[in-house]
Amino acid sequence: MGVQETVATILVLEDHTATRRFLADNLAADGFEPVEAETVADAKRLVVSEYPDLGIIDLGLPDDDGLDLVAFVRKADRVSGRIDPEMPLLVLSGRTGELDRLRGFERGADDYVVKPFSYPELRARVAALLRRSERRSGLGRVRVGALELDPVARQVWVRGEQVKLSR
Ligand code: CA
Repeated sequence: MGVQETVATILVLEDHTATRRFLADNLAADGFEPVEAETVADAKRLVVSEYPDLGIIDLGLPDDDGLDLVAFVRKADRVSGRIDPEMPLLVLSGRTGELDRLRGFERGADDYVVKPFSYPELRARVAALLRRSERRSGLGRVRVGALELDPVARQVWVRGEQVKLSR
């Protein structure tokens, strides 16, 4: 079927304004669609309303730990159709310890980049995660705008609401 090439939406969860703006500006310049959140609560709302294709997640945030968002996404119930529990998540943190990185991966992060970071390297890692997830979703769900199809499960969602299909 003719699935159009869509712009990847990237959630940027970062409370440090200058860093968040820097990321959003550069991601937009590189053709991505950034959506910005300053708190874990904001990010949870955006995950449900904007269907980001990937998240860049800071850990030290005003309301919670960024790993709570990672856990929130990973625990999502795929059947409801609102959140992809396998959404690629890249932690971007000033916490440099080995134990911090291990905790990130244990909670379900796909990658871990330490601050201060190199934007070109971050962008390369983002692109690699998106390629991997595109290959995966090619086997599962297909999304075109607000319409989402799972050919294997024979299920359809429109704006996250599952549509009842006749056999
Ligand atoms: Ca922070």
